[in-house]
Amino acid sequence: MPKRIVILGAGESGTGAAVLAKKEGFDVFVSDMSIIKDQYKELLNARSIAWEEGHHTEELILNADEIIKSPGIPNNAPLILKLKEKEISIVSEIEFAGRYTNAKMICVTGSNGKTTTTSLIYHIFKSAGLNVGLAGNIGQSLAFQVAECNYDYYIVELSSFQLDNMYKFRANIAVLMNITPDHLDRYDHNMQEYIDAKFRITQNQTDKDAFIFWNDDPIIQEQLIKHGIHAHLYPFAAEKEEGVKAYVDHHQVYFSEPIAFNMEQEELSLTGTHNLYNSMAAGISANLAGIRKEYIRAALSNFKGVEHRLEKVSRVRGIDFINDSKATNVNSCWYALESMKTKTVLILGGKDKGNDYTEIESLIKDKVSALVFLGVDNSKLHAFFDGKVEKIVDTTSMKDAVDKAYHLAQKGETVLLSPCCASFDLFKSYEDRGDQFKECVRNL
Ligand code: ADP
Repeated sequence: MPKRIVILGAGESGTGAAVLAKKEGFDVFVSDMSIIKDQYKELLNARSIAWEEGHHTEELILNADEIIKSPGIPNNAPLILKLKEKEISIVSEIEFAGRYTNAKMICVTGSNGKTTTTSLIYHIFKSAGLNVGLAGNIGQSLAFQVAECNYDYYIVELSSFQLDNMYKFRANIAVLMNITPDHLDRYDHNMQEYIDAKFRITQNQTDKDAFIFWNDDPIIQEQLIKHGIHAHLYPFAAEKEEGVKAYVDHHQVYFSEPIAFNMEQEELSLTGTHNLYNSMAAGISANLAGIRKEYIRAALSNFKGVEHRLEKVSRVRGIDFINDSKATNVNSCWYALESMKTKTVLILGGKDKGNDYTEIESLIKDKVSALVFLGVDNSKLHAFFDGKVEKIVDTTSMKDAVDKAYHLAQKGETVLLSPCCASFDLFKSYEDRGDQFKECVRNL
């Protein structure tokens, strides 16, 4: 009898895991509490994989030899607790996929900058002609690509939820961009649990592997020793510091290992301090993979950026509009504000994940001429910002927010959507929020 694998959640990762499990000869069953998207149903049906939607049938799940859990399902969901009680192994799709490939894994995590850095690394590898796949939170799942493609490298974006159920998976290159409070609602509001999840990216690394991280992150520094890293360390920083392998000096970005080279900071296509970090992490990864410096320089300077991340939308009567809808926490908004070169009208608000706005208070005082709150419940924002910014308006639709921001902004200023919050109170997703923003701007 083949072993039984049950997959909980039939989104991109669950369906991919099902396809791979079927290919590997397991008895596969997929169960999703919600309605499964048609494209995934078709994929499952085409491979004769059994599935159910709208409920979980416990008899068909508790008899599994192993569970592959979607990162969206919390660890304390009742069904998960039952599975744990029965001591059934629960793994993530990435953990499962890692068992069936020998490709080199370049994995990126952090509170902010994951998608940008992952996409940038992929762009460099791809433009250098390597046989590389992009996976994790972006595009097709790792499991699906392991089943259907034959890549030599995977660039994998890992959220803390994906790292939660990883045990043996080994990253040949692990990148940790930064750690700031986020998603604490999923970690019993315990910061250490969230930090431990992020550091899981280094577990199983050996002295043949590399760990790339931001040297000036106080949390990473403090935790490095505790986590006993075996990999070779590749810290990067904005300025030259003891031991860093990438830094800026006199407007030149220096990379020191394994091959030393440098490039003009001005040539980096992505701007802002945060993107300097993203570019350095990507440059080190490519350097480690043996990609020639000419390719790295060229790719770092012609990368187009990722949608909804400090994306320039257009200029309307001298006012620039920037879509940073993906800024779903306070720290990412901090970096967005920091990179603003003009006075800014900031649109923020949404579903608050336990935000502390103190972090952006002084940047708001320096750079922001007006605040536009966009959310169902703006009371927390009012409690913090009232009296600190002269002009504050409330809105409950994107059209209203864009119209009001446009009227508040003076010629030469910027309207920035960088909400600090999740989008689910008024929008389907951050993409929906960003798309609506762009459409409203175009209709001005
Ligand atoms: P993630 O995938 O981790 O959410 P993204 O690359 O999608 O990160 O960027 C999300 C937002 O975070 C961007 O809109 C930007 O404002 C901010 N950001 C990007 N890179 C960094 C970084 N290295 N440090 C802090 N903030 C960043």
